Amino acid sequence: MAAMETVSCPYCGAELEELPTQCPLCGRCIPLEPWEVVREVSTEWEAELLCGVLRSHGIPAQILSQRDSTRMFTVGALAVVKLFVPAVYREPAHRLLKEL
Ligand SMILES: [Zn+2]
Repeated sequence: MAAMETVSCPYCGAELEELPTQCPLCGRCIPLEPWEVVREVSTEWEAELLCGVLRSHGIPAQILSQRDSTRMFTVGALAVVKLFVPAVYREPAHRLLKEL
């Protein structure tokens, strides 16, 4: 049931319990930070959709909505929702998002 939330090693694909960690298979260190923006979208549902796709492929993803920080200024079309992944997942995340 928790299949959506498993994390894969960005190097060898081994299943990891949580980040940061050292991969038990390839021995590489997988840091959780820094986080990097992989995509900017204008709607939260789109961000959540992409976030869900990344997570279902073992990539830890997070959404940062401007609405969270600047609640006063969300009027109009300027709202930007940013999709973040840990920097070590940049490549697989970009590859995945490009395929969509
Ligand atoms: Zn590994």
